[in-house]
Amino acid sequence: MLPSPIQALTHPLFTKHQLQVFIKRDDLIHPIISGNKWRKLQGNIEYAKANDYSGILSFGGAFSNHIHALAYACQQQQLKTIGIIRGEPEYQHNYTLSWAKHWQMQLNFVDRITYKRRYQQDYLDELTSQYPDYFIVPEGGTNQLALTGMAGVIDELTNQLEFDSLMLPIASGGTTAGLIAADNGEHQILSIAVLKQAEYLLQEIKALLPNGATSTNWRLLTEFHRGGYAKFSAEDCINLAELTTHFNVPFEPIYSGKMLLALLDLIEQGYFPAGHRIVLLHTGGIQGVSGLINQNRVPEQYIKAIQSHLPSVPRVQ
Ligand SMILES: *Cc1c(COP(=O)(O)O)cnc(C)c1O
Repeated sequence: MLPSPIQALTHPLFTKHQLQVFIKRDDLIHPIISGNKWRKLQGNIEYAKANDYSGILSFGGAFSNHIHALAYACQQQQLKTIGIIRGEPEYQHNYTLSWAKHWQMQLNFVDRITYKRRYQQDYLDELTSQYPDYFIVPEGGTNQLALTGMAGVIDELTNQLEFDSLMLPIASGGTTAGLIAADNGEHQILSIAVLKQAEYLLQEIKALLPNGATSTNWRLLTEFHRGGYAKFSAEDCINLAELTTHFNVPFEPIYSGKMLLALLDLIEQGYFPAGHRIVLLHTGGIQGVSGLINQNRVPEQYIKAIQSHLPSVPRVQ
């Protein structure tokens, strides 16, 4: 669904601090693929097709939103896919990867040591000689080609509402960089790091920004990771269960949930002046919840709250 819808959120805390809060539902762009991953892939798929590659090769964990989106989006475009997956082949039966296989992705499982080499030129050269007709896209789909697709968010928002801050979760920085480049300093971009010791992302973002991008109207907040990437407490999940029910919007505990909990903390700290208008970008990722449920990582109360928001597509094996 494009443009992705905007929804107003109401909460006693927002009223108390005289804030207006909205959420841009990129999780609803498509029933199958996660919002920001879909947007980031647009430029990469175009590039691969324009340059006559027969497929795309990329990297991810066994529950990766990017791998899931890549497999589907490329199949739609008649491009082949190879996923270099961190971990053991048993993972191929999980929700994320059984769908990736269903969409014809070739899954190559590698150990942690090999996976760590995913940014090293010698490893990338090896992969290129092994798969010369595949365009290699980094983990998370983050590269310069990913930026143009993110501009769609800013274009749509411009027609949808007036606002002061745009808040989103950040992991590899491609989504944030695309928004900063497209927004040109018009709004404050506030990125909530979902992993530990994320200060290095400042450099990553600057490196991704096109030459001449001069906006300084963006912040990286690194204090809201809740223990590290994909880490969270049972209490976080219970809070997110309540908030999912309250807003009738699904929040998973890895990305969108950390953004929402950070928003509530920031408001309590008085971070936003009265009258401020905040847009949360829901980046998607709801497909990952199935993996969390199967691994028993979320309490019953959370499953109850999120159930009706999970993709209705049946599970493949
Ligand atoms: C990958 C992902 C992010 C982080 O995007 P980056 O471009 O890596 O910073 C945020 N939310 C969801 C749901 C994701 O899958």
